[in-house]
Amino acid sequence: MARVSVEGIVKRYGTVAALDEVSLDFEDGGLFALLGPSGSGKTTLLRAIAGFVFPDRGRIRIGDQPVERVPVEKRDIGMMFQNYALFPNMSVADNVGFGLRVRKVGAAEERRRVGEALELVQLEGFGGRKPHELSGGQRQRVALARAIVTNPRVLLLDEPLSALDKALRVDMQFELRRIQREIGITTILVTHDQEEALTLSDRIGILRDGRLVQAGPPREVYDAPADLFAATFLGEANILPGVGAGLVAPEGAAPGAVLAVRPEAIAMTRTEPEGAGLSRCAGVLERRVFAGAMATCLVRREDGGEMKVVSRDQDIPAGLAEGELVWLSWPVEKTLVIPAGAQAGAG
Ligand code: ADP
Ligand code: MG
Repeated sequence: MARVSVEGIVKRYGTVAALDEVSLDFEDGGLFALLGPSGSGKTTLLRAIAGFVFPDRGRIRIGDQPVERVPVEKRDIGMMFQNYALFPNMSVADNVGFGLRVRKVGAAEERRRVGEALELVQLEGFGGRKPHELSGGQRQRVALARAIVTNPRVLLLDEPLSALDKALRVDMQFELRRIQREIGITTILVTHDQEEALTLSDRIGILRDGRLVQAGPPREVYDAPADLFAATFLGEANILPGVGAGLVAPEGAAPGAVLAVRPEAIAMTRTEPEGAGLSRCAGVLERRVFAGAMATCLVRREDGGEMKVVSRDQDIPAGLAEGELVWLSWPVEKTLVIPAGAQAGAG
């Protein structure tokens, strides 16, 4: 396997900078999720690493090898893109073995490796079928088997699961993670599904307008977003009145910093909570919505601001009704401090 790194990548299409000085390291054997709104440059970055797009500037390394001038077929990369297509008239085994035949590995070797790949994606015994005889999820597995059968150094996945319905997508996410761990392949997964990125990956990176906003372990980015865009893109955040507006602010929070708190960090009580180290505010419960085991509440603060609270239903005071006065509190260290000046890009 191999580490991948890009350094100062720029790619322009006319006046649009699809990638604007992007630098990132993808750890050897890690699963990196690349996140960002539509048009932020995710696919362009993946295609640059694969060799389908040639950057105007910057370096790309796979392992220790600079690959800017290396053609696609010599980069040793496995790929599965959003609009992947299996060859409809080929059997599953022939689809999976395609890359091996291109590399002329020989029939016996091809049979053995196709068998291994199908076993890995739990499709043993499906080799003789045609793609139309498979479910959507099974076709996805075949595409994955085809991407990894050549033992590539890097696996690039561009929204591979976005066409699947929710339940199947969640299954495939776990499946993907299991396979990725099992073969230990450096993987870059493009997704616009924040939850997918948070649950699956070792590290994430957020792109916006061709620029890297932030990269790091999911927990770290979630708990310490670099700017307001990262804070609200990766999850929900209640924006609080500024430092000095009556809420207990974390120590060292500079005046002008934006304070925020995640909906699930907040506890809701009938009476004012005791205790140092808690940030708190009062408000009126405006709405309470059930969603399975969790409930979402909307609370109007005294200053007019709205707070969203997400908690387990049993953690909400019994009998609490819309229109009642409630207290919201959370540990001070759960307050997100978004540095002043870092919001410039959020407008
Ligand atoms: P994402 O995958 O994050 O949705 P893309 O990498 O596909 O974003 O696109 C980034 C930007 O570059 C967009 O503004 C897109 O319109 C532009 N772009 C991408 N590919 C091309 C191309 N081949 N020609 C012109 N513009 C392109
Ligand atoms: Mg894309």
